[in-house]
This record gives sequence, C-alpha cells and structure tokens, in this order.
Amino acid sequence: MTDSKTAIVIGAGFGGLALAIRLQAAGVNTTLLEKRDKPGGRAYVYHDQGFTFDAGPTVITDPTAIEELFAVAGKPIGDYVDLLPVSPFYQLCWEDGTRFDYVNDQASLDRQIHALNPSDVAGYQRFLEYSQAVFREGYLKLGAVPFLSFRDMVQAGPQLARLQAWRSVYSMVAKFIENEKLRQAFSFHSLLVGGNPFATSSIYTLIHALEREWGVWFPKGGTGALVQGMVKLFEDIGGRVELNADVSSIEVQAGRATGVRLVDGRHLQADSIASNADVMHTYAKLLGGHPRGVEEGKRLAGKRFSNSLFVIHFGLKRPQPQLQHHTVCFGPRYRELIQEIFKGDALAEDFSLYLHAPCVTDPSLAPEGCSSHYVLSPVPHLGNAPIDWAVEGPRYRDKIFDYLEKYYMPGLREDLVTSRIFTPDDFRTELNAHLGSAFSLEPILRQSAWFRPHNRDASLTNVYLVGAGTHPGAGVPGVIGSAKATAGLMLEDLHL
Ligand SMILES: Cc1cc2nc3c(=O)[nH]c(=O)nc-3n(C[C@H](O)[C@H](O)[C@H](O)COP(=O)(O)OP(=O)(O)OC[C@H]3O[C@@H](n4cnc5c(N)ncnc54)[C@H](O)[C@@H]3O)c2cc1C
Repeated sequence: MTDSKTAIVIGAGFGGLALAIRLQAAGVNTTLLEKRDKPGGRAYVYHDQGFTFDAGPTVITDPTAIEELFAVAGKPIGDYVDLLPVSPFYQLCWEDGTRFDYVNDQASLDRQIHALNPSDVAGYQRFLEYSQAVFREGYLKLGAVPFLSFRDMVQAGPQLARLQAWRSVYSMVAKFIENEKLRQAFSFHSLLVGGNPFATSSIYTLIHALEREWGVWFPKGGTGALVQGMVKLFEDIGGRVELNADVSSIEVQAGRATGVRLVDGRHLQADSIASNADVMHTYAKLLGGHPRGVEEGKRLAGKRFSNSLFVIHFGLKRPQPQLQHHTVCFGPRYRELIQEIFKGDALAEDFSLYLHAPCVTDPSLAPEGCSSHYVLSPVPHLGNAPIDWAVEGPRYRDKIFDYLEKYYMPGLREDLVTSRIFTPDDFRTELNAHLGSAFSLEPILRQSAWFRPHNRDASLTNVYLVGAGTHPGAGVPGVIGSAKATAGLMLEDLHL
C-alpha cells in the first residue's frame, strides 16, 4: 500500500468507524485516532464485577445500513456480529398503570390502540402512511446525500413542502391521533436523536416507519459487541486504530490540512482528515489556530444544541422478569417537561425515563441470576442549566431510584451490586461535547440538511465531518448514513 492515498479519522464513534471502514475498503490507507481507551464514543462499554453496561445506544434500527458496511468490505456480517430481534420494540408505561406494547404486529397494535381510543385505529393507519412517505423521501432518498449547496436544499424543497416538514413531530401526530397517551407513544421517538417533538421537523416521524420496516435489534453481547465487530472488520481489511490518541489540532498549510498533532506531541500526516469529534470541538479547538476554525466556531456558538442526559448504569443481584428490554416510563407531564428539558434553566422536579434491561434479550450481560441495567433521564444542557453535577448527580440518582422502586423495580436498592452515573459534565469532559449535549446540534429544520455543518468543509477542502453534528444527524442510522455521504465525497476528491 506504499503509493496509496492516506486518511486520518479523528474519533471512533459509530460515524468514525463506519467512515474508516468505507475508506479502507476503497483502498485508502486509513488511521482511526480515538482519545479514549476504548472505541465506540457514545457507545462506550463499562465492565464491572461481571456486569456489562452499554453506555449509549441500545435501540439498533436499520440493520441494512450495518450490513452494507460489511458488504462493502467484502466480509460476511455473521462472522463479526449477531443481531437479535427485540420484541416488543418498547414497552410504554404511564404512572396510572397503562401499558402499551409497541410491537410490529398490526393486529396487536390495533387492539391496544382501540382499547385507548377506538377512533384512533383509523387515525394511526393514516399516520403510518404519512410516516412511510417521509421515510421514503427523507431517509431512503436523502439520508446519505451530502447537502453541500443550497441548490440541493431547493431541489428537496417541493417534497419537504408536500410532507409539511415545517410542522413539528407532535403536531403531525396530533393531526391523526386524538388520545394523549397515543400521541406521546408516537411522538417521543425524536427524543432518541435529541429532537424536541414539539419543535423538531415532522420529518423525524420517519423513525416510526423505519422501525416498522426493519424492526428493532440488539447485538448479541450488547451494542459494544457491534462496536468491536466494526473495529475487527476495519483491522481485518488493513485499517489501523490507535486508542488513547488525543488529537490536539488539525494542521493546515496553504488552505489544506496536512495532518494532525496529538496531545503527546506526535504529528501524523495524511491526504485527507475527517473529524468524528463534536463539531464545535472540531472547529473551535482542533482548527482553532486557523481563521476558518475561529469563524466557524463563532457561528456554531450561536446555534441551538440538543439536550443532555443523566445516565445511571446499575447491576442487580436478581433478574427483573417484570421488565421488557426497552421501557419508556412517561412521567406526569409531557409537553411542559420537554419544554423545560430543552429550554429550562434548572432540573425539573418530575421526569420521564428510558429504562434498559438488556438481559431480557441476552442474559450473558450479567452474572448468572443477576441483571444489568441503565436508566436515563433527559436533562438540560450545561449552556441552559449550569448545574453543579458533582453535588446534584448523587441526589438526582437517589430520586430516580426512589421512582423506579415505586413504579417499576421494587426492592431495587436492596439488590444493588454496583452503580455509576454519567452526567452532562461527563459528556463535556469525556466526549468533548459542546455544552455537554448528548446529540450535538438540535435537529430543527433550520439546522438540518444544508443548514447543518456540511460533510466537507466549505473552504478547507480536504477536511471532512462525520457523525451526529453533520448531515443527516444523530442516532446510529444517522451517523452511519453520514459516513456514507462523507466517504462518497472523500473518495471522489481522492479520485478513487
Ligand atoms: C445515552 C445515549 C443513548 C442513546 N440511545 C440511542 C439509541 O438507542 N439508538 C440510536 O440510534 N441512537 C442513540 N443515541 C444516539 C447515538 O448514540 C449517537 O448519536 C451516536 O452514537 C453518535 O455517534 P458519532 O459518530 O457522532 O460519534 P460519538 O459517539 O460522539 O464519538 C465521537 C468520538 O470522538 C472522540 N473524540 C472527541 N474528541 C477527540 C479528539 N480530540 N481526539 C480523538 N478523539 C476524539 C470521542 O472520544 C468519541 O469516541 C444515544 C445516545 C446516548 C448518549
């Protein structure tokens, strides 16, 4: 490979890994640099006393995007990772005891919808048709297309207008569905990618159709096993991963990037540089020595960033047979709570939670007879609510444990073997996330597609972005789609 083109990808999140695989598979000699001691980014893994805790994504959708990565590398996916189906996709729960099993079975869905509000059975069908139309236009056609010029946006305009993309997710769901619980059940999805259902474009209703089309999956061994499978794939085809490789700057000469400098003082050269790190970190810090980085950093500082998350990983000495794999625990308020999460300057008194019980699908993630879990609460980012998490974190953890004991997991604390918390402070320090945001730029219409930081920088033409901060946005399918868009540009620019 002596004459081959070279690339450096900064950051081994799903986006960085997917891009590195695509580049290496196309013959580019690719080095992946990750500042932490393990790959995965938001999908980091903790091992503790026999428990395995996935730190981030657990709802794996669009398996076709993952399969495509193995196909482009010419390797059978089955040699690397085993994706297990999850059913119900989620169990949705309310404090009054109402349960809704969100399954991929129309008859069961109709029965459950009918029990809550008979006229919503027909409304749901119309909603599903709408979300399928958005899925075809917004995901299948545009999900992996780089929006580099305003013309691309104008071309997509008529479809976006026809699909009423200016409306919010919730307002579109409410157009079809009357019952408030069902409105919550079919609008919360955008929260999984950092979108406020009351502000995010109705394009994000496509997540519903995407889940109905391809299902919800969980990698055997946890999401971390998928990360490991992708790392192995990349290395098997000749790629090089360096962990504990903290990049301090992207070096630029005469308008082109020449390489990167690491915190340990080393300098590495490459023909192209792609950053999977936070977009603000990339411009303001890594390119902070160049006018382009300063200018773009200032522009991004004026943008809206998604909320943060408070996560508790915990292991119990007992299984929890009453739980499904994914539980969404709706609290007493929906609209008001979400407004406070996205705009508030303090922690709300109540919360809505997502509870992960992976041993339901794969008992190997905990010692025999035990169970591993995480629970997350969406919270404001540090720019809106400068909370002292060193003080507030343990208090908030206890409050969430009280709540889980009351409604979902009686005796939780008696069975507790181990627990750890991950706060907005950790998103900021561990992941270099601007304001501790869990999902980067908020996916509102005026920060989407062409309005999002582009997959290739506009002036430093061999500097590229991949991951949640660029098009199409956060979520595992989103960042894997961004890798496809970015790889296409890089290979074109390298004449491959
Ligand atoms: C708790 C949680 C739950 C989630 N659940 C889901 C879910 O169920 N389904 C779903 O689809 N999505 C989910 N998401 C969203 C999804 O995980 C993310 O959008 C996605 O994983 C982000 O990937 P990324 O490629 O942008 O990179 P990231 O995961 O953000 O990784 C970026 C990497 O860059 C590294 N880096 C940063 N700066 C440097 C530097 N200077 N030098 C070297 N390396 C650097 C970081 O250490 C990190 O490893 C969840 C997110 C969180 C936080």
